[in-house]
Amino acid sequence: MTITATNTQKKTDLLALTLPQLQQWLVERGEAAFRAKQIYNWLYKQLATDFSVMTNLPQSLRNQLAEEASIGPIIVRSELHSKDDRTRKILLELADGKLIESVLMLYPPLRESSARATVCVSSQAGCAFGCTFCATGQMGFDRHLSAGEIVAQVLHFARELRTAPWTAAGLPGRTPIDHVTNIVLMGMGEPLHNYNNVLQALRILNNPEGFNLGARHMTVSTVGLVPAIHKLSQEALQVNLAISLHAPTDELRNQTMPVNRKYPLQELLAACKEYIATTRRQITFEYVLLAGVNDTAEYAHLLGDLLAPLEQFAHVNCIPVNVTSASYRAPGPDAIRTFRNILFEHGISNSVRAERGDDIAAACGQLRTRFEKNNRTNVPSATYS
Ligand code: SAH
Ligand code: SF4
Repeated sequence: MTITATNTQKKTDLLALTLPQLQQWLVERGEAAFRAKQIYNWLYKQLATDFSVMTNLPQSLRNQLAEEASIGPIIVRSELHSKDDRTRKILLELADGKLIESVLMLYPPLRESSARATVCVSSQAGCAFGCTFCATGQMGFDRHLSAGEIVAQVLHFARELRTAPWTAAGLPGRTPIDHVTNIVLMGMGEPLHNYNNVLQALRILNNPEGFNLGARHMTVSTVGLVPAIHKLSQEALQVNLAISLHAPTDELRNQTMPVNRKYPLQELLAACKEYIATTRRQITFEYVLLAGVNDTAEYAHLLGDLLAPLEQFAHVNCIPVNVTSASYRAPGPDAIRTFRNILFEHGISNSVRAERGDDIAAACGQLRTRFEKNNRTNVPSATYS
């Protein structure tokens, strides 16, 4: 076990490399650069997990790859499926023993939108920002994930869907979903705190020679790191941006989101305006509804006033809080409807996130918390029902 772990750490994780980097890696080893495209095809189109299947590579190269390289060395330690099987959550152990969570969310086709398979990806083990309602925030920060560790989470579910495509129950005749259609950086960690690795992972997944996932199918969610939002607005890769707002006043936001003391609302909104002016893209503002804390009519009006200047470029996603160990509760349907209607009065487009996966502790950080409470021994390893 120790020997394997040591070997793995010395190996180059190919999932962390862009295509030009893989070409360079091969050329440094006396191989032809064109082999990189063949390997990329195996990794991202055939979804190979082993070099031995790469039969268009010479045996000597396959042997060398097995010696010196790896394909996302992560282990699934626990897996939970919701009763309807549309939310599947995994706990992954990284090479150094750190634990992270990833979630697959399956959506049947609805009116004009086609079926989706969205992977909720972690960007860090733990998180440094300590939002009071967030299970990950309560763990503290372990470390950044490498680009390869981010890519590997997506490939895990891509392989699962390839092997067993999903069809919505009760919708016969629909084409089964056999691939990942979207990714959201809404798992554990703050993606813009791990800016370079996250952008590297997104570029790798975007490459048409490889996984070929369009930037418009990728969403980065941030707690509101102002300098990184400016930087993101300048990137050629135009991904979707979601901002975790969760409060319309500095006073309230300071209480639930300590980051607000560093980047208060005025600075955050200015960064959003600049982002919109540069990209002409809409921003989604996430608003976790905490009963009796930020869900009153007064706060709805303040939120409407705050975002109205962004006009059609602001969309609010209301998210009834997933209950963690903190003592927050989600509001009932009437309070949610009232809150949303006030936003509509202010001309703010908004939606409510359909609750899902509650039976498997869907908010990120909760599976790891539960797993660690069980002292890493008596853990669920199969389907939950
Ligand atoms: N760090 C980034 C992305 C990860 S969190 C961010 O904060 O945006 C992804 C989303 O889940 C954020 O909007 C976050 O506020 C929200 N979230 C955290 N804890 C939650 C909970 N208990 N219930 C519902 N949403 C939660
Ligand atoms: Fe970190 Fe996001 Fe959780 Fe806040 S909500 S603690 S930024 S993961």
